[in-house]
Amino acid sequence: MYYKEIDKRYRETMIKYLRKHFRYNTMNSWNKSTSYANNIKLYNIDKPADVDDDRWWDMLSITDWQEKLSDLLEDFGRRHDWLWQAGINGRSSGYVVLYKGGIKSSGYKSYCTHCGQKNYQQVPEGQVGICGRCDAKTRVNFKQTHMQVFTWPGKDTDMYEDFEAWTLTEIRQRVELVQDFDRLCDDIASEYVNLCKHYRISEEEILVPKTIKVLEPV
Ligand SMILES: [Zn+2]
Repeated sequence: MYYKEIDKRYRETMIKYLRKHFRYNTMNSWNKSTSYANNIKLYNIDKPADVDDDRWWDMLSITDWQEKLSDLLEDFGRRHDWLWQAGINGRSSGYVVLYKGGIKSSGYKSYCTHCGQKNYQQVPEGQVGICGRCDAKTRVNFKQTHMQVFTWPGKDTDMYEDFEAWTLTEIRQRVELVQDFDRLCDDIASEYVNLCKHYRISEEEILVPKTIKVLEPV
């Protein structure tokens, strides 16, 4: 639905595909920067006849779906070494947008093996590291520099680009990136359809543990 076969032998065909691709704001409308995007609003996706309307709209707010969606977005980022990432933007989260980003050192030097809390201080040689959150003596140094993913939400992609100065190889790589992005949007749509076809939403009551204050005789 989003993915298109492009003849990558021709410069003009590829530039036309890039120039005509749907775009959307990377942040908000006043920021004015846009990037390659796709509209994945439900009315844009063909609803299978055997899925009723309620389920079609309600599935959006189900945790299982949101987890599936973030897995798909994360896989895309990992595939592109986080230099390119896909994110959700727009009112009612109806757009998938291509973002620039990368990975950098997080600055964390140690972490707690008990609760996972990260710490900017190194545990000095021969000393026991105490966790600042759970007080366990299980804070250890990271063996490798701890990295974190960052995104540039305000940066546009090819907004004013006419590709004149680009080599054929460079244009081809850009087309392949955008095609992979389109393929991701197809995967998102088909996963959603799949979930709606094979699952129904049922309600379950859960008990949430809560801390209360009680009186005790002294
Ligand atoms: Zn801890």
